[in-house]
Amino acid sequence: MVKETKFYDALGVSPSASDSELKKAYRKSALKYHPDKNPSPEAAEKFKEISHAYEILSDEQKREVYDNYGEEGLSGGAGGPGMNAEDIFSQFFGGGFGGAFGGGPQRPSRGKDIRHSISCTLEELYKGKTTKLALNKTVLCKNCNGLGGAEGKVHKCTDCHGSGMKFVTRQMGPMIQRFQTVCDKCQGTGDICNPKDRCTVCKGKKTQSERKILQVHIDPGMKDGQRVVFSGEGDQEPGITPGDVIFVVDEKPHEKFTRKGNDLFYEAEIDLLTALAGGEVAFKHISGDWIKVHSYPGEVISTGEVKVVEGQGMPIYRQGGRGNLFVKFTVKFPENGFASEDKLKELESILPARAKVTIPKGAEVDECDMVSFNPAQHQQTRRDAYDSEDEEGGQPGVQCASQ
Ligand SMILES: [Zn+2]
Ligand SMILES: [Zn+2]
Repeated sequence: MVKETKFYDALGVSPSASDSELKKAYRKSALKYHPDKNPSPEAAEKFKEISHAYEILSDEQKREVYDNYGEEGLSGGAGGPGMNAEDIFSQFFGGGFGGAFGGGPQRPSRGKDIRHSISCTLEELYKGKTTKLALNKTVLCKNCNGLGGAEGKVHKCTDCHGSGMKFVTRQMGPMIQRFQTVCDKCQGTGDICNPKDRCTVCKGKKTQSERKILQVHIDPGMKDGQRVVFSGEGDQEPGITPGDVIFVVDEKPHEKFTRKGNDLFYEAEIDLLTALAGGEVAFKHISGDWIKVHSYPGEVISTGEVKVVEGQGMPIYRQGGRGNLFVKFTVKFPENGFASEDKLKELESILPARAKVTIPKGAEVDECDMVSFNPAQHQQTRRDAYDSEDEEGGQPGVQCASQ
């Protein structure tokens, strides 16, 4: 027979509730009434109430006192000063619940991932490569195994429960503000230790710096943005799972080739005779080999035309096989005066006839001369023309200059 049931009622359990029933009840209510989840003043009050109830009932000694003497019995000293509701919550949910409500006081259970970009040329992504990279990381102190001092001599700080941070509530006018601050009892270390028992290597920091060499394998066919993950190689810290070290492939642009997925693109220049009468084109491939392609007599290749060399693209990552190689042609025309008038006459007999000039009947025709384009001269003239148009509102002072 218990003296009173107020705390049991707050959690909605019977006075005969087991430890696990208490835990379950507290978990359910705490999540429901936590200020971050439920900002109403009633919820805040309820949150404090259930936290206090759980604090008492989860402690065997306190629960016994409460059962025999009620709340009054606790204030007689057995209850102590009592814990902050937020602290009880953090302690209960631990790091694993980390940030469920965002910005909570819990420490993360997993360390940060460390990202490095790894610059690769297209050639390297074609053949694959292995790079050794040195990295400075934080590891648990090897001398004290991350304890910060002699075994059994380092105790969790009771003020902050080892987090090194604690909550302070301050009233500012009508508002009650809650904020985190460094625990003054342990100076943020989270534990208390006699100076003579402190680890001499890390001086209580629990961690030390270490240089580690990682071998990064870039497999043939890997792509820009692809990741190579070293699981758990991130910085170590007591009580947390280290994050990963992640290398991200950064593909450098190639001077000659462009990559799209597993395909490669190349722009080849061919002379007019090859374009018209067939011939060979050769260029150096990413692989280091040379690619030689043929066009056949009578097969005309025009500027902008694209041909495909199947299976000469990038290797397909972990699948084998290769993408395609697209070759886009530009026809290089001969220089002015490349042939005598006689020879040009011969061309006339070979090439299709000139396209007829068509001007609508009755249109007025201005016969003009054209000169080679000179940016300095012609762009300036054009600007002047538009300027004068703006000023005078008249016609541009050039004729036959439209292109
Ligand atoms: Zn502390
Ligand atoms: Zn140490």
